[in-house]
Amino acid sequence: MMHAFTYKSTPAHVLFGPGTLARLPDVVGELGGTRALLLSTPEQASQVRALGGLLGKLAVAYFHEATLHTPIEVTERAMRQVHEHRIDIVVALGGGSTIGLGKAISLRTDIAQIAIPTTYAGSEMTPIIGQSANGIKTTQRSPKVLPRAVIYDVELTLSLPPALSGTSGINAIAHAVEGLYAQDTNPVMQLMAEEGIRALTHALPGIVREPGDRRARADALYGAWLCGTVLGNVGMALHHKLCHTVGGSFNLPHAETHAIILPHAVAYNESAAPDAIDRLARALDVVEPANALFDLARLVAAPAALRDLGMPEAGVKQAVDEVLRNPYWNPRPLERSSLAALLKRAWAGERPRL
Ligand code: NAD
Repeated sequence: MMHAFTYKSTPAHVLFGPGTLARLPDVVGELGGTRALLLSTPEQASQVRALGGLLGKLAVAYFHEATLHTPIEVTERAMRQVHEHRIDIVVALGGGSTIGLGKAISLRTDIAQIAIPTTYAGSEMTPIIGQSANGIKTTQRSPKVLPRAVIYDVELTLSLPPALSGTSGINAIAHAVEGLYAQDTNPVMQLMAEEGIRALTHALPGIVREPGDRRARADALYGAWLCGTVLGNVGMALHHKLCHTVGGSFNLPHAETHAIILPHAVAYNESAAPDAIDRLARALDVVEPANALFDLARLVAAPAALRDLGMPEAGVKQAVDEVLRNPYWNPRPLERSSLAALLKRAWAGERPRL
C-alpha cells in the first residue's frame, strides 16, 4: 500500500559516461568560473594535474592535501590558496575526502564546486559535510555545500584498487539501504535506492575479478550516483549512526567500517521495516538480505571484523553508550543489550543474527 509522503529533492546537474571529463571546461564556463582551484589527495596529484592541460588558463592553482574526515587545519591551508589566487570555482577530483574539502571551501565562501568522483562513496550528491577538529567530527547539512555539477567519467574509476572498489561500493549500498526505511523516505527515493543496490551488487564482484572491466565500472558508478542521491535526499538511521560513532571514536577507515556494519544493521532492522526489506531482497535477488550482504562483503574481500580494523573490545560498550546518548531515528527502537550484541558480532566478524 502507498503510504503518505512528502517529496523534496536537491538540484542536480550530472554528466555521466566515459569521456565526459572532456566537458569540464564547458561546465566551468556555464558556472561562470574563470579562476579554478584544483583539489586532490596526495595520491591523486598526477590525476588532477592532468586536468591542467584540459583547462588551460582556467586552472590557476592546485592543492593536493585533501585528507579523510576534512580536518579544519587542512581546509584553512586550502583557504589561503583560495584568497591568494582569487579563486572563483573549485574542481575536486577524487573520493569523499577530496569532495569534502571542496564542500568545506564552498561552506566558507559560496564558491561553486564541480565534483569529479573517483570512488563510489556518493558525497558529490549530498548537501552534507563532515568536518573534524581536534579529533572530533561534526556533520551538518547546508545547500551551500552541494556540488553545482558532477562529472562521472568511468575512465577515472579504472584505477580504484579492487579492495577499495568493493568497500566503497558497499558504502554506497548502505546509503540506499537506509534510504529504503528512512523516516522521510518517498517512492522516488525508494526506486532509486532499489536500482542503485541492484546495479552495485551485480557490478562489484566483476570489478574485483577484473578491475579494468569498463561495463562493470560503469554499472557501479551509475549505482553510486543513485545511492548518493538517496543519501542526499532522505535521512539516515542506525547503520550510519553506528559507522559515524565507531569510525570517529576509534579512527577506523570509512568504507571498510560501512562494509562490516551493514549486514548487522539490516538484521537489526529487519522485523521493523518489512516493506524496505522486501525491496532490498528484490534488489539483491535473495531471501535473506542481511546474510546476502555479509556474503557480498566476503566476495569482494572486505574485512569482516571491526577488531581487524583496530577497534578495542571495550569499544563496544563505549560505542553503545554514545549511540544511545545521541541517537538517530531508527525503524526499530534502540535497545542497549541488542545493540551491544550487534556490535559484538561486528567486532568479532561473525554472521549477522537474524
Ligand atoms: P577517500 O576519498 O578517502 O579515498 C581513499 C583513497 O583512495 C585516497 O587515497 C584517494 O586518493 C584514493 N582514490 C580515490 N579514487 C581513486 C582512484 N580512482 N584511483 C586510485 N586511487 C583513488 O575515500 P572515500 O571512501 O571516497 O571517502 C571517504 C570520506 O568521504 C570520509 O571522510 C567520509 O566521511 C566522506 N563521505 C562523505 C559523504 C557526505 O555525504 N558528506 C558521503 C560519503 C563519504
